[in-house]
Amino acid sequence: MRGLLVGRFQPFHRGHLSVVREIRTLRPEEPLLLGLGSAQASYTWENPFTAGERTEMIARALAEAGLTGVTTVPLVDIDRHALWVAHVESLLPPFDRVYTNNPLTRLLFERAGYVVEGPPMFERERYEGARIRSRMAAGEEWSDLVPPATASYLESIRAAHRLRQLAHAGGSRSVP
Ligand code: NAD
Repeated sequence: MRGLLVGRFQPFHRGHLSVVREIRTLRPEEPLLLGLGSAQASYTWENPFTAGERTEMIARALAEAGLTGVTTVPLVDIDRHALWVAHVESLLPPFDRVYTNNPLTRLLFERAGYVVEGPPMFERERYEGARIRSRMAAGEEWSDLVPPATASYLESIRAAHRLRQLAHAGGSRSVP
């Protein structure tokens, strides 16, 4: 029917793109939903980019890569994990397969009876959101770690400047 890949995509990097490409290649007949986790969050160290910005950076990367059949849907967090899967179901069209390597996400979907697959990690030591955010904040090279279309979009919204300011503001704290 449909697959669901859940992630915060802060930012959407080459590892994420490789997973999407692999899923689309493996199951071209199965539409793929990208569930944009923590959609309510932005301007924090863990979640610097808004759901709208993440939707845009993903759309540009997928178009550049020629990947179709993928729909991005924002998922706001709720404070009761036991109810989260029902919350996700209420926001998405029907799906029957979930892709994640996040242990909590896996646990909750498995408990609800879904087939959960853990796609292989692509050079995780290189392609990791936290590492890319740190490189941005430190003024180090980061653009080769994300798809080119994502890099130019992130440059257009002054992403590295934002990360530097967030680092100054105290790491994981929200900026007022
Ligand atoms: P993420 O962006 O860190 O990762 C997304 C996916 O990409 C993960 O499966 C990860 O393993 C994979 N990935 C990362 N680097 C990769 C690489 N180099 N190669 C291949 N794959 C790679 O997002 P996340 O933190 O896993 O997102 C989970 C979301 O679900 C969060 O927003 C969380 O808040 C949400 N959630 C919410 C609740 C709730 O509201 N109660 C409960 C559970 C989960």
